[in-house]
Amino acid sequence: MIPRLGEEEAQAAADAVRSGWVAQGPRVARFEQEFAALVGAGHGVAVSSCTTALHLALVVLDVGPGDEVIVPSFSFIATANAVRYVGATPVFADVDLGTGNLTVDTVDAVRTPRTRAVIGVHQGGVPFDVAALREAAGRWGVALVEDAACAAGSTAYGRPAGAGAALAAWSFHPRKLLTTGEGGMVTTDDPAWAARLRRLREHGMNVSAAERHASAQPVLESYLETAFNYRMTDIQAAVGLVQLGRLAELVAQRRALAARYHDLLATIEGLVPVRDPEYGETNFQSFWVLIDPEYGVSRDEVLAELAVAGVSARRGIMAAHLEPAYADLAPGPLPVTERLTRDSLILPLHHALTEDDQDRVVGVLRKLAG
Ligand SMILES: *Cc1c(COP(=O)(O)O)cnc(C)c1O
Repeated sequence: MIPRLGEEEAQAAADAVRSGWVAQGPRVARFEQEFAALVGAGHGVAVSSCTTALHLALVVLDVGPGDEVIVPSFSFIATANAVRYVGATPVFADVDLGTGNLTVDTVDAVRTPRTRAVIGVHQGGVPFDVAALREAAGRWGVALVEDAACAAGSTAYGRPAGAGAALAAWSFHPRKLLTTGEGGMVTTDDPAWAARLRRLREHGMNVSAAERHASAQPVLESYLETAFNYRMTDIQAAVGLVQLGRLAELVAQRRALAARYHDLLATIEGLVPVRDPEYGETNFQSFWVLIDPEYGVSRDEVLAELAVAGVSARRGIMAAHLEPAYADLAPGPLPVTERLTRDSLILPLHHALTEDDQDRVVGVLRKLAG
């Protein structure tokens, strides 16, 4: 993924530097407001990454030792790691073959009396079925955190993915559609949670450094709980504010390129590209293709041939339970996760991709099909 960064971002970052206010300040506050409005959330709390956003979401829910949190193994490893940061135990659930996401059934299959929360991931930008999973979580009395790292610009049931979430965590890493270099956000509609999240990212202080500096009177802060330094800088937020203006165009462009991939791939048997679910639209953050047996060539051979042709495709999304970091867990069977991670690859899809590039990629795939 090649980030779309231009002169406007460079100028905005320079303006922040020249203003003399480079730590969390007025630009972070504006970025939070504009991002929350864009994704249909009441409050945005900017943090240093989606990983720290997930950590704080679990802290706010008071999840801790003895608790289980259900997560997909089929996700970037940060989703599962956040559970361990609070001393809880990640429990891996399988995913749906078409969307790569948790479903009510896959979560229910691994639910126990110790389940405190579920982290649903809008994987690669494909929204999970928010209506179904939020309803089920409510019925079970289990919190639902949404890992929306990849989902800026995706929609579910006619609203932005993540709108209406109890807590959603977003990423602005350069591999996502919107970038601030590094960065993240927690969004929520709950003002009390938003207030606690603001404290948690800033050492547990009851007044922010920005408020303290803005006050004419000396303000004595106090530290209400043991917390973290997970702040975003104003330089990052300045870049993010410019990036917000690019989102709609970026999504439209990716969706057009994805539609063209769909047309070209339709004539090759055994290749199943990711598509919109019936209840929403993906931003095609990741355009993955599942290789069915009738294609006749393994995923790794396909990757090798693409590399020879100068195409930088990537393996599919990882499965955390297959990594050494989680070798101590003994999850139940995860057949769909293992099939997706073994048999899928991610084709190049970014703002600089040309139709010629696409034709070259599909040409290699067609030749391999024999
Ligand atoms: C990228 C990603 C993360 C981590 O985001 P950072 O901002 O790099 O911490 C977490 N979850 C998912 C699903 C991701 O794709």
